[in-house]
Amino acid sequence: MSHLKPLPYAPRPIRGEGLASWTARLAVHNFVEPAAFAEWMGAAGKARETPTSEVLRRLAVLSRLPVEDLAPLVASSASSGRAWQVAPNASGLRGGACPVCCREAAEAHQDHWWTGESEDLLRVSCPRHRCRFAGLGQLILTRTPQGLRLMLPSNQPLGAGRTNEPLEASVLEMEAAIAGCHLGHSPGSGWRLQCPATLLRSVEVLIGYVLCAPVGCLPFAQAFDTLESKGRDVFGLTPAMCRRGVASLQGQSIRTRCNALAALQALLAQPSALVGEAAEETGWRTASDDRGPYRALAEYLGREGRAELAGDLEDLPPALAGPAIAAIEDAELDHAILSRRRVRRRRARARCDVRPAGDYRLPAGR
Ligand SMILES: [Zn+2]
Repeated sequence: MSHLKPLPYAPRPIRGEGLASWTARLAVHNFVEPAAFAEWMGAAGKARETPTSEVLRRLAVLSRLPVEDLAPLVASSASSGRAWQVAPNASGLRGGACPVCCREAAEAHQDHWWTGESEDLLRVSCPRHRCRFAGLGQLILTRTPQGLRLMLPSNQPLGAGRTNEPLEASVLEMEAAIAGCHLGHSPGSGWRLQCPATLLRSVEVLIGYVLCAPVGCLPFAQAFDTLESKGRDVFGLTPAMCRRGVASLQGQSIRTRCNALAALQALLAQPSALVGEAAEETGWRTASDDRGPYRALAEYLGREGRAELAGDLEDLPPALAGPAIAAIEDAELDHAILSRRRVRRRRARARCDVRPAGDYRLPAGR
């Protein structure tokens, strides 16, 4: 590694591009798999999110670019910690691509590329077009005579068709608030919390619960799904896995990540600032108390999940723990009433099942 020579061809970084996109393009242009290239560079595994200055120096030598030109590629994705960063997929690609950006790049005779922001687990939309990223899991970065293209399983380049799916306002709001908190900005008056660090910590605590799906049930986050084919590819955690935090989203689809963001928005926004279909249909925005989304979450979680959440309440600030406690108590009370009713019904049925003595017959032959 000490005698590095420049590679035969090195693309220049595109404005807004992330390090994962540029290094993947550098590799594929030189006939190397992105995963193998990252391994060779020492940029895989633990060092992937915050490349060391040595990795950047090697990349600069390989690409004949000044190190200063590579710094903006890193800055965009370095704001969040390791657990919040997307892990590379099996092909060594990391992040998510905007179909419109890729279509525009192809029209300008450039390679397909993706942003540094998309390397964050809770970033799901293009900063320019606000449409949903395409996950890189199904895409292959392929050389074509016109440049590199992210190819779909149908062998069509990404962005060739109408693929820019609109995103819900609740998803965009939560995404923007989290991104702002990573930069130290207060979320603003529309949120139940004002301290950036507290909001990020609350996201870590609550995310497992919005994804929690007791056996045979859908997760709370699924109630926020706006795409057709509802119920397909639903991801859920068991109650015992609720405490894994944001990292539990690793490997999950952009759709699942959008649903989780919308669910978090319901729990973290002031009721008066709630947006989206779910908030309107349920009346959470106009209810007389602020427990609505927490009540729904407590019902979704079931008894086991509620017990887990109750154990995590001390990690939540009072503005969230208050409505959560009240909602858990409401759900437990409802459960107790239902249980008592069930017991009474079972007893009543048992009384009806007692047969009159005269009706009793021994089986034939005894
Ligand atoms: Zn875009």
